[in-house]
Amino acid sequence: MRWSQYFIPTLREDPADAEVISHKLLLRAGVVRQLSAGIYSYLPLGQRIALKVMKILREEMNRIGGQEFYLPALHPAELWQESGRWGAIGDDMFRLKDRKGTDMCLGMTHEEVFTSIARNEIRSYKQLPQVWYQIQIKFRDEPRPKSGLMRLRTFIMKDAYTFDVDREGLDRSFADQREAYQRIFTRCGIEFSIVEASSGSMGGSESSEFVARTDAGEDLIASCSNCDYAANVEKATSRLPAIADEAGPDAPEEFPTPGVRTIEDLITFPGGAAADRQIKSLVYIATLNGELRPVLALLRGDHQLHEVKFTDALGATAARPAHTKEIRDLLGAGAGSLGGVRAKDAARDLFIIADLGLKGRRNMTTGANKDEHHLRGVSIERDIKVDQWADLRTVISGESCPRCDTGALEVYQAMEIGHIFKLGTKYSESMGATVLTQDGKPVPIVMGSYGIGVERIITAAVEQNNDENGIIWPKTLAPFDVVVTVTNVKDAHLREESEKLYKDLLHAGLDVLLDDRDERAGVKFKDADLIGIPYRITLGKKVAEGLLELFDRRTKQSEDVKLDEIVSRVQKLALARP
Ligand SMILES: [Zn+2]
Repeated sequence: MRWSQYFIPTLREDPADAEVISHKLLLRAGVVRQLSAGIYSYLPLGQRIALKVMKILREEMNRIGGQEFYLPALHPAELWQESGRWGAIGDDMFRLKDRKGTDMCLGMTHEEVFTSIARNEIRSYKQLPQVWYQIQIKFRDEPRPKSGLMRLRTFIMKDAYTFDVDREGLDRSFADQREAYQRIFTRCGIEFSIVEASSGSMGGSESSEFVARTDAGEDLIASCSNCDYAANVEKATSRLPAIADEAGPDAPEEFPTPGVRTIEDLITFPGGAAADRQIKSLVYIATLNGELRPVLALLRGDHQLHEVKFTDALGATAARPAHTKEIRDLLGAGAGSLGGVRAKDAARDLFIIADLGLKGRRNMTTGANKDEHHLRGVSIERDIKVDQWADLRTVISGESCPRCDTGALEVYQAMEIGHIFKLGTKYSESMGATVLTQDGKPVPIVMGSYGIGVERIITAAVEQNNDENGIIWPKTLAPFDVVVTVTNVKDAHLREESEKLYKDLLHAGLDVLLDDRDERAGVKFKDADLIGIPYRITLGKKVAEGLLELFDRRTKQSEDVKLDEIVSRVQKLALARP
């Protein structure tokens, strides 16, 4: 490619609306342009990068026996109704009607479509296992699309699905995918971790999330300083030091607390209690089995509820904090005076779920369900009818590792780049995908599903590989391996040499960009640094002595290389694989 004819609209300044580094640099380098909120166009450089990512994805999927499909993005609602997800997934799904009034949707993932193919075509255990994948477009109506390519409403995914006759088969398929994912991210030059995570609306028994550490990430990961424990905070647990409470009175004692609205207020209130001796009471409205139900969540005063852990523990499809009026109608008091004691007397359909950090605690203080009154001397198991105990609290940095004896947890920001799920028989049972075993018995197919976002890889690569001058692409993703820069295009000899070098490099199997623009050398260098091509060969005055300058974008080191050695040198550097 010749830069003079190639479409690379670089920008000198950071775009005003871009916040995270990857967003700024992908716009400035002319890789993508925004069409609408969460919707981006790949420009030629971006398409080259995306194709390189997809090539790696294909190679690694094919290596573990994956067979590539291409499924439609437009689905009949019927399939999603069969799996139960038409109702379970809320506004995140783009829904529409066709001209006959039939409900349709734009696929956000393809479990339903792949399962429908399997159930129609696969009859016997002899046809299993199957490993199916596609690289295809997905849609998600994000409430807050932002951060460039990090949170999109339409994006490209590699999604894979495995079909096995039993759990052991699924374990093997899952392990194959896990290894393939490790190879994919390594080849893409991304530093990543594998963490435990919530399976969310996908369902299933086990999942592993792949994350890339970056301050732009929207996920929080808790990882141990001592062992290999790492989990998304939506799943992470920690060990709390034991607290020895005094027994306290035989029954809770009510006392007036004028002006007390919060945990903080009660700490300083005369006769109040330290935060770790208070019970925090939060009212939610949860969707349980398709019905709305009030839920009271109890935690230690100094702990924070994690809503994903809360909805996962309940098995709810959705949950929201109750409004002020709903709370008063339910428990007869404002949000600052709520508690679990006798709460079910007031609200019979109230479900009480308590965090495990409260288990066995005595002599605690909590709201009395009466404005400006609290109860002290509350022994939680004696005084509150808890329906379910669960791990609900958000872990924080410095807490003890749940797996080893000595480690402390560090919580850091990261972005999700891949997620793999053991689905089990969730979809095959609801949609009736069965096979006959060796004994002639019909059993539901045991499934796994595995996803990687192409834009997530591109974003993570930029977030982790950049400097003040621009992007530093990992060699495997770079749109070009090398740029050949002619310092002065008016010099006929330089031009001639550069054309010859350009052809030789192409012939050596390299992706080459020839910067033949009539611009100052400084402008050319800046642009090449900004778009992040790993190597730059500069043809300047030293060509007369048979020398070229070879610049390494990552190390920022330059060296003079002899004209007759440059091609093999760059070939060796650029094509070395991690
Ligand atoms: Zn540990």
